[in-house]
Amino acid sequence: MGELSREVKDLRGIGPKRAAALEKLGIVTLWDLLSWFPRRYEDRRAEKAIGDLVSGESVCVRAMIAHAPAVSHVRQGLDLVKVRAVDDTGALDITFFNQTWLKNELIPGETYVFFGKAEVQNQRRTMAGPVVEREGQREATGRIVPVYPLTAGVSQLVLRRCVREGLDACAGILPDALPGEIRQKYGLCRVGYAYEHIHFPENEEALSLARRRLAFEELFLLSIGLRRLRRGREACRTEPFQAVDLSPFYNALPFTLTAAQRRCIQEAAADLYREVPMNRLCQGDVGSGKTMVAAACGYLCGKNRRQAALMAPTELLARQHFGTLSPLLEPLGLRCALLTGSTPAKEKREIGKRLAAGEIDFLIGTHALISGGVEYAGLGLVITDEQHRFGVAQRSALSAKGVHPHTLVMSATPIPRTLALILYGDLDVSVLDELPPGRKPVETYAVPGSYRPRIYKFLEKLMAQGRQAYIVCPMVEEGEDPGAEERKAVLEYARHLKEEVFPHRQVAYVHGRMKAKEKDAAMSAFARGEAEILVSTTVVEVGVDVPNAAVMVVENAERFGLSQLHQLRGRVGRGTWQSYCILISDNRSPETKQRLQVMTRTQDGFQVAEEDLRLRGPGDFFGQRQHGIPGLKVANLALDAELLRDAQAAAEALLTEDPDLKQHPATAERAAALLEANADGLN
Ligand code: ADP
Ligand code: MG
Repeated sequence: MGELSREVKDLRGIGPKRAAALEKLGIVTLWDLLSWFPRRYEDRRAEKAIGDLVSGESVCVRAMIAHAPAVSHVRQGLDLVKVRAVDDTGALDITFFNQTWLKNELIPGETYVFFGKAEVQNQRRTMAGPVVEREGQREATGRIVPVYPLTAGVSQLVLRRCVREGLDACAGILPDALPGEIRQKYGLCRVGYAYEHIHFPENEEALSLARRRLAFEELFLLSIGLRRLRRGREACRTEPFQAVDLSPFYNALPFTLTAAQRRCIQEAAADLYREVPMNRLCQGDVGSGKTMVAAACGYLCGKNRRQAALMAPTELLARQHFGTLSPLLEPLGLRCALLTGSTPAKEKREIGKRLAAGEIDFLIGTHALISGGVEYAGLGLVITDEQHRFGVAQRSALSAKGVHPHTLVMSATPIPRTLALILYGDLDVSVLDELPPGRKPVETYAVPGSYRPRIYKFLEKLMAQGRQAYIVCPMVEEGEDPGAEERKAVLEYARHLKEEVFPHRQVAYVHGRMKAKEKDAAMSAFARGEAEILVSTTVVEVGVDVPNAAVMVVENAERFGLSQLHQLRGRVGRGTWQSYCILISDNRSPETKQRLQVMTRTQDGFQVAEEDLRLRGPGDFFGQRQHGIPGLKVANLALDAELLRDAQAAAEALLTEDPDLKQHPATAERAAALLEANADGLN
């Protein structure tokens, strides 16, 4: 990629100032620039005579400036340039904002092209803030124009010129990451054509060809990268576990495991008895009983005199796991310990000592498990719960505490199949597709805020029967300090309930700003049944298990993603009671209605996830920043499923023919780069 790693500042027309602005967007090399794909396009091909203009229509108008432009200073920060342009059919009054230099650029008697939204009112035709270009020097009108994602300091015009410059600089020398045979087999255009027309499409057809090729390329490279990652992992060796009789473990359980749980345990056990380290995802809907799979693996590990570590994303969850696992496994001879951020220093040191001496068999905790001072005597198994909450760096930091330890990741996020193929291409997957017996579907309702009095009455009735309720309080707008706002909202809502609605009930609350200890105290009070209502933000979203809770009320339900709502709903329906989920929203838009209807229609997390993906697109699925797939800029996993299948088949075929990609250096390099960019989204 020699030429492509050239820095943009060496390009013609890009001085230090522009280079600095581009760098803010993360664009440093020529390659960065070319892969800065448009967010959307504007079709500026249509042209109309002034007399034919229709209100609200965005078109090009070719017209002559009728008189010298007039400049007026309206107020600080607002200067207007007004000018009249004419053609054979009429006159158009044009206003520009804060572009005073145009005063000297627009010369009476000369013809220009204007692109903008026309307004027609009482025979008067106007256009505000159009793009203007001289005849014969058109770049931003008369064609399909790319619209790029931007930050301050770079305008669309500047970026377009930079990209144009970049494309010209590497015309004919772009390395093609797709081998010719693959391009031919799947009818994909060449790399040069693809980059040209993704930026400056000649027409819709060219754009569609370019997109198809680039989407295929991304999926293909990701597949290649993941397959190679997997091969690398399979070359690792670890000391296999000895077979262990699991019946003491099964007999100690207060319930019979579901068939799905037993199957997952067996699948994981088979991995643990191999020399190749396990790399398995245990995926199961909320409440499917993943913790028991972790417990069984921990038991196998402990009986092999190796240490297991379970990392949970929150203090709350870590404590809950410890509360489940310790009473179960201690009597079976496993020494368990809890290590979190709020473990007192003295206890931390003590745990550290025992851990290094091999006197702890199962360590449960939060990020604290991977902190500097923590040394294991012989880490054999690493389990991460709700794994999408951890970046790959955190997971591998934990693994690095042992020598190729086995890893088990547990996730309740039901990942649609298409996405799973990509995200977990490197993992073996066990699915818990069965809930423990006796669970009743959670009756789900979507209602407007006017139902609140009826909802409160209903809650009262359930609490009189001994049940408990979660209420997720109204979300705050992202303000200056969202944490503080959130705290205020929770306190206020809890106070309102306590004082005005349920004076004879105990109301507990949790929010993100509470100290771990306080949070824990509130949660424990709720878990013990001392508080009947728990008001919270989404802190309760993952993993929390209070079987006696039978109602989940979510305020501002429209602000949540479907998968998030499904997680929240999963907090109830864990006991044998009939449970309810009430989604309150005053948003009457058809989209909101449609989304909330999905929740009332289905209990199936996978179906919810598919719908979520369809309605939101993959970028949003996990929340942009943390869990999107940043390397996928063009491919849309919801829409490109077929392309994904083709790309995977092509990747498989190429690696069979050329396992080390010796004949395909461009492919190898790009695949490696894409994996790196994706490090946080992948395993
Ligand atoms: P997940 O982590 O998959 O959401 P948990 O492991 O927290 O689910 O289990 C949910 C609840 O179901 C817990 O209260 C657990 O004790 C209970 N449970 C797990 N397995 C079974 C089973 N086989 N039969 C009955 N209850 C079970
Ligand atoms: Mg769980």
